[in-house]
Amino acid sequence: MLQPLLLSDAVGDSPRHPVVGVQKDIRYYGTTAKGVLNSPDTTGMSFWSINPYVGCAFGCAYCYARYAHRFVMERATAQGESDAGIADDLTELPPWLAFERRIFVKRNAAEVLRRTLRERGSSGAIQRGETIVIGTATDPYQPAERTFGVTRGVLEVLAEAHRLKLVIITKSPLITRDVDLLQRIAQRSTLTVHLSLITLDRELARRIEPRAPTPESRLRALRRLRAAGIETGVNIMPVLPGLTDRPDELAALVRRIAAEGATHVNPSPLRLRATARKRYLPFLAAEFPHLAQRYAAAYAHNHEMTPEYRDGLRRFMKRLCAEVGLQYGTPDERQFEQRAGAAWEQTEETSSEPLAVPASAQLELLA
Ligand code: SF4
Repeated sequence: MLQPLLLSDAVGDSPRHPVVGVQKDIRYYGTTAKGVLNSPDTTGMSFWSINPYVGCAFGCAYCYARYAHRFVMERATAQGESDAGIADDLTELPPWLAFERRIFVKRNAAEVLRRTLRERGSSGAIQRGETIVIGTATDPYQPAERTFGVTRGVLEVLAEAHRLKLVIITKSPLITRDVDLLQRIAQRSTLTVHLSLITLDRELARRIEPRAPTPESRLRALRRLRAAGIETGVNIMPVLPGLTDRPDELAALVRRIAAEGATHVNPSPLRLRATARKRYLPFLAAEFPHLAQRYAAAYAHNHEMTPEYRDGLRRFMKRLCAEVGLQYGTPDERQFEQRAGAAWEQTEETSSEPLAVPASAQLELLA
């Protein structure tokens, strides 16, 4: 269990980034954001995004978002001369670890967002009905949120608007604190919560996602959100080859998610781009050495598993979802799939094969 955040007073180590809190080995810095609503043009993603924090205390071994932290660190340390104190703090840890232990709190996020939405007026993302995703690079309900409430502040601003299309991604049951606000937003806008859960195995989760909430607590959050009428699905992302992709365990996970009332499931196998790889492969070598060489080979020339593995997993998960009456993918993703591969879709849906993992879905890593 994480200890409650013990806040120090704002000690003012740095004028730009005062230390606003400490929690065991984690240090929190206040920061003044110039903008919080990131456009698709700036991120390269197909939607708008908001991240109330920079860095994430949950510290998942596979986290792909560590790269975003590097840029903030570089910017902050580049200001080192006029920002005495922070440069040493930020460079004393390797970047992958600083992501988990040096966290920036965008304390003015709500105010900046309100101003942005006002200025963008009718030409902005809001009026065009484009999706805004909260939590693409850090968890918006990580422990800091209990103290700083930046995510709640952002949601309060969004609750004032109409006809938004909002998605919140989190691993934390802390989101249930804001059920009242989520319900208010859902009355005026489209809101979907994506809870992330990759396994039911508490001990395995603790090793891979060391400071994240337990699987059971996430499932309780799912139940509570659904009871409150909030559209909530589960991201089974990433499916980790050799660790969380056993067919019987995936089947148990999907059945449990369905039993808790989820509206949909989004599965996706592990991608290992450069910064995630730097952390994940050494982690694997230390914690699961029997898999290290196989991973090194499987991801040697690509950041993804083979198309056969991905297709096999997708087919398997689709059948599982159909079996328990759970929607596979969000409506947007289904539309995309329909556009991208209508013929393929047809073949899949009409298949009469029994529920079993096709040979192509068996892990080549385990073969
Ligand atoms: S919760 Fe998400 S952002 Fe945070 S460490 Fe885990 S994968 Fe990264």
